[in-house]
Amino acid sequence: MSTATKTGVQRQIAMVLDLNKCLNCQTCTVSCKKLWNQDAGTDYAYWNNVETRPGTGYPKQWSELGGRDAQGKASRGTVPDLDTQYGRAWNFNHELVLLKPKGDRNKPKAWLRPQGGNGEGSRPTWGANWDEDQGTGTYPGDNHYFYLPRLCNHCTHPACLDACPRSAIHKRKEDGIVLVDQDRCHGYRFCAEACPYKKIYYDTQRQVATKCIFCFPRIEEGEAPACARQCPGRLRFVGYADDRDGPIWKLVEKWKVALPLHPEYGLAPNVFYVPPMSPPKLDAQGRPTDQPRIEPAYLESLFGKRVHQALATIEAERAKKKQGKPSELMDLLIAFDWNKSFAIPAQSSKQPSGQQATKK
Ligand code: SF4
Ligand code: SF4
Ligand code: SF4
Repeated sequence: MSTATKTGVQRQIAMVLDLNKCLNCQTCTVSCKKLWNQDAGTDYAYWNNVETRPGTGYPKQWSELGGRDAQGKASRGTVPDLDTQYGRAWNFNHELVLLKPKGDRNKPKAWLRPQGGNGEGSRPTWGANWDEDQGTGTYPGDNHYFYLPRLCNHCTHPACLDACPRSAIHKRKEDGIVLVDQDRCHGYRFCAEACPYKKIYYDTQRQVATKCIFCFPRIEEGEAPACARQCPGRLRFVGYADDRDGPIWKLVEKWKVALPLHPEYGLAPNVFYVPPMSPPKLDAQGRPTDQPRIEPAYLESLFGKRVHQALATIEAERAKKKQGKPSELMDLLIAFDWNKSFAIPAQSSKQPSGQQATKK
């Protein structure tokens, strides 16, 4: 019996992201923001964000803000703080940076300033991607980082849905997309507390919850979500989890190289990641060792124990490809034929099914 059948949805749409190919260009972030999420009350909120790992993430240290513990039990969560964990939006002081004499530019008066701030004494101290490209380790021996794009996982067992006393969150039967009915939402934010991925945002002006909608109007038309379609790295795959000819089933079930983020939370995410490989650490003489730069234990803390076998499979298939032998897995991951990255038949019925109503 498929996961979709067990949970009452007819089919489950899903996404796989190959972390070996992410450029941190943020095209996904911007395409989502421009398309869906430009309300003034959510200017701090990125339904899709890309964070540098190891790093603090967005919101800051989100995996420590509760919702689910390491055994998958519900735990008291917190709503991330706008100032200290998200960071408010800021403006660039273009006049100072571009037009003033060079000496003025270095004065501590802020070429970044919080929106509404005057620039003097009000410099932002935190925001999305504040620690971008910092990573960890020491050059040249073991310094490293990689990029982790994140969006709502459209979980098979959504904690946000379970936590809502207004039944304002539902999982669509036809594709498993998790949506907020903003006409029912009273802005209690129990969903934001409960989601351990911290992928529910609160619209401070309309006073309702908002989140990634998996671009459902595009899915209904057979189009890939904007964040996937616009990705220049061609690292995102979208399709139905039970489609044996599609990329999701092949990467998740057949090759077992695509893994959920924090599987220990027990929500059964439907966004999966191909874990990043890394070059070797160098020894004191600058010679390559047999240790990968990205600590296996760190990857295990993100993707669970299966990450080691997944990396071994990718390594073996890559070696085959290097020898000129065929590899279905490598051809898929390289995305030679980009059309094969998306397998989304248009939905025949486009009747409204409690879609994310917007309270404007
Ligand atoms: Fe990474 Fe693609 Fe997003 Fe660029 S658009 S940051 S390559 S996921
Ligand atoms: Fe809900 Fe969070 Fe899962 Fe998205 S990631 S479905 S917001 S619990
Ligand atoms: Fe945004 Fe659509 Fe990507 Fe969700 S699937 S993060 S709504 S672009």
